[in-house]
Amino acid sequence: MTIEANYRRLHAGSAARYQQARTMFPNGVTHDGRYVTPFPLYVERSQGAYKWDADGNRLIDYVTGHGALLLGHAHPAVVAAVSNQMARGTHYGAESELAIQWAALIQELFPSIERLRFTASGTEATMLALRLARAYTGRPVVVRLAGHYHGWHDLLARDSAADSSPPGVYDGLLEATMVLPADLACIEATLAARSDIAAVILEPTGASYGALPLPQGFLRELRALTAARDVLLICDEVAVGFGRTGKMFACEHEGVEPDLMCVAKGITGGYLPLAATFATERIFDAFLGRPWEGKTFYHGHTYTGNPLACAAALASLDLFDRNDVLRNVGGNAEAFGEFVARRELHQRPFVGDIRYKGTMIGVELVEDQKTRARFDARRRVGAEFCARLRKRGVILRSLGDVIVIMPPLAIGRADFLQLCDAVVAELAQMESSI
Ligand code: PMP
Repeated sequence: MTIEANYRRLHAGSAARYQQARTMFPNGVTHDGRYVTPFPLYVERSQGAYKWDADGNRLIDYVTGHGALLLGHAHPAVVAAVSNQMARGTHYGAESELAIQWAALIQELFPSIERLRFTASGTEATMLALRLARAYTGRPVVVRLAGHYHGWHDLLARDSAADSSPPGVYDGLLEATMVLPADLACIEATLAARSDIAAVILEPTGASYGALPLPQGFLRELRALTAARDVLLICDEVAVGFGRTGKMFACEHEGVEPDLMCVAKGITGGYLPLAATFATERIFDAFLGRPWEGKTFYHGHTYTGNPLACAAALASLDLFDRNDVLRNVGGNAEAFGEFVARRELHQRPFVGDIRYKGTMIGVELVEDQKTRARFDARRRVGAEFCARLRKRGVILRSLGDVIVIMPPLAIGRADFLQLCDAVVAELAQMESSI
């Protein structure tokens, strides 16, 4: 039986729901990243590392809610905190102490977080950071690095490889962001040559959750050269903040304190939409003034600091602390290091680079291991590989031909290594059909 025929056999309920969804949503999905051929899975329930689909299949989830569900699905402590808050009111349209409690906790853990502002998504958090950077420096242009993703707002929506804007994005905005390669000499030369650059924004572990990692020391040097020119450094920790890399924030690995930092996803353990932008006191102070002076930086939205989301964030941060989650990430990272050292992955002929930081892993699939020649993109080898794994009850995703493994931070060592074995076994299967 072909992979597709087997998939159709196992997921008839999802196929039926997709027929209806196709008449409603673009490509039949509510998020482009959930588009899967021949049809996506419809999930009815999730718990821990598992999801159950509309046909009752149990799937192991290593995508964990677009990388957000750090503690796995439906952790009882977070569910209890949110349920408790739910009964006390979901949206006060007023201040609540929950936001203060969370902010106090994060500031206690990271005294360098001086001021913060909540938003609801990573996209809004980076949008806010960019606007702050422009307003603070009085300069219009923001540098981003090729391939680094910062959400879907117009200023950052353009794919760095494309020479035109995505449909609907005003071309005039192209000049407001400048895409540079992750090359320090090039960035330094650009900052030296131009006086209109407000900030450099980047994913501190490299493009796409570190699927294309940055060299060791890159962030530290970038910090030095931006500081030397009084250009702000914005670390987008939306995907990697809150422990993914084995430290609470990825920039800690290089001892870097950015001027602005954006967090989302894992801020609530991935349970509810909440995001934040952190700023230094220096930036905050620049906007102080009487209302009529026009300095005030306004930014509120209907659900800012939503009590439900703050309750989830508090419960999640508390679990981090009590369960020593970061130590578990370190243990699993070590286990993966040992796994890689055994070279079983490297021995598979289609495996190129293997990148990992904490338990954020990218396994690159290449056509030729020696030359590192890539597969023709039209073959969608990465997506095909993930489709094959789904048949084993494992949900992974690919970014191009890089297989991304992001298990919940609390995953046990045995389950984690079982996943690695499943990847190796499926690679062996794939070799016979390519
Ligand atoms: N920045 C990064 C690094 C991200 O990975 C993402 C989402 N994948 C975003 C920003 C946008 O976040 P959101 O989807 O919450 O808008």
